[in-house]
Amino acid sequence: MVAEKPADSQNEQPNDILSSTQSVIREALDKLGYPEEAYELMKEPVRMVTVRIPVRMDDGKVKVFTGYRAQHNDAVGPTKGGVRFHPNVSETEVRALSIWMTLKSGIVDLPYGGGKGGIVCDPREMSFRELEGVSRGYVRALSQVVGPTKDIPAPDVFTNSQIMAWMMDEYSRIDEFNSPGFITGKPIVLGGSHGRESATAKGVTICIEEACKKRGIDLKGARVIVQGFGNAGSFLAKFMHDMGAKVIAISDAEGALYDPEGLDIEYLLDRRDSFGTVTNLFDDTITNEEMLELETDILVPAAIENQITKDNAHNIKAEIVVEAANGPTTLEATKILTERDILIVPDVLASAGGVTVSYFEWVQNNQGYYWKEEEVQEKLREVLVKSFNNVYTTAQNRQIDMRLAAYMVGVRKMTEAARFRGWI
Ligand code: NAD
Repeated sequence: MVAEKPADSQNEQPNDILSSTQSVIREALDKLGYPEEAYELMKEPVRMVTVRIPVRMDDGKVKVFTGYRAQHNDAVGPTKGGVRFHPNVSETEVRALSIWMTLKSGIVDLPYGGGKGGIVCDPREMSFRELEGVSRGYVRALSQVVGPTKDIPAPDVFTNSQIMAWMMDEYSRIDEFNSPGFITGKPIVLGGSHGRESATAKGVTICIEEACKKRGIDLKGARVIVQGFGNAGSFLAKFMHDMGAKVIAISDAEGALYDPEGLDIEYLLDRRDSFGTVTNLFDDTITNEEMLELETDILVPAAIENQITKDNAHNIKAEIVVEAANGPTTLEATKILTERDILIVPDVLASAGGVTVSYFEWVQNNQGYYWKEEEVQEKLREVLVKSFNNVYTTAQNRQIDMRLAAYMVGVRKMTEAARFRGWI
């Protein structure tokens, strides 16, 4: 019998993600004039650790979970990136995602390399006690290779501030030292930063504002479509709504809602469940596929990979596509959209707000001095406006697509650092 896939599973194709990331990195390094050995270094993580985590479950039996941690490259500084809990987590996926974290950190100019981790488990079927066991066990298994100056985890798919708190506590016990800087995305009372929870959506919003300026679109009254109503998509829909844009469609794994006059976002936010599902409460829905092809000013994929492909790229009727999700547009589709003069803001730039505020959290932990929400927002805006314009100008000057431009900006710092260190 084939196991049923969870309704909102990530539906990932890790090999595709890794090989397409590697192909753009190769092109970016070529364009920057770096030798082949730079690509040899950048194409895979420098360290990949697999751990086995025994946890006594509520039924009294011990279950052994598999976890991974990839550290892509630490030439610039410690590696940094989320830990996801999901039944589909694979080693290849974690490797690819660690490379994306290097690119994001490079684009927003943080003193980090990329890292990523994951545990193969389904938190929706686990008790709080079991989740705590797996979280603490993961840190115990990795304690020698992670830490505030080595590799700093953060939340990702199906992990949250409570899980970060357990992990921080476990690390602090092992280290015999209170170590808030070991992990980011913590609750505020444990050294979390204001603005962290909504940071990804805030970053996407800033990119949308900048992209609108380039295309002469007034965000007030502009039509916006958001695919995905989870952490990233729901905050984003709210920010767009609050700024006077008209959110004409949203979706989740079950379907999509469409109203050309604009949806009642406050109501939908109120009714969504904790997994980001709301459309199942309505009869009058359309499919995700139909929604993506609606006429709009701004289209934001904020759900899963491979949503815009060569099969539907010709039918996308948006002026701007801003990728809040990781990997929603294939390389072939990127080419088609760019040829059709649709402005793409690629994932490694658009969703870099999360890691940026994670960096702010780590800085605050290291200095033991905490910033106000407005201070965080102001600094985030400064970073993202600069990064957006850096990528945009690179694309314009070199007459290349925004994804390749973002990769060029993203790999440069790491490669330069590796060169100065004498690694290549
Ligand atoms: P989430 O789990 O909170 O929400 C995911 C949403 O996508 C849910 O509404 C779900 O119903 C929907 N979805 C799932 N499968 C779908 C499908 N087949 N078609 C349409 N919708 C579907 O996840 P999130 O944290 O909001 O992340 C969404 C995307 O943004 C991911 O690609 C993630 O990697 C990326 N991202 C998130 C953050 C963050 O801080 N949350 C940071 C960087 C990147």
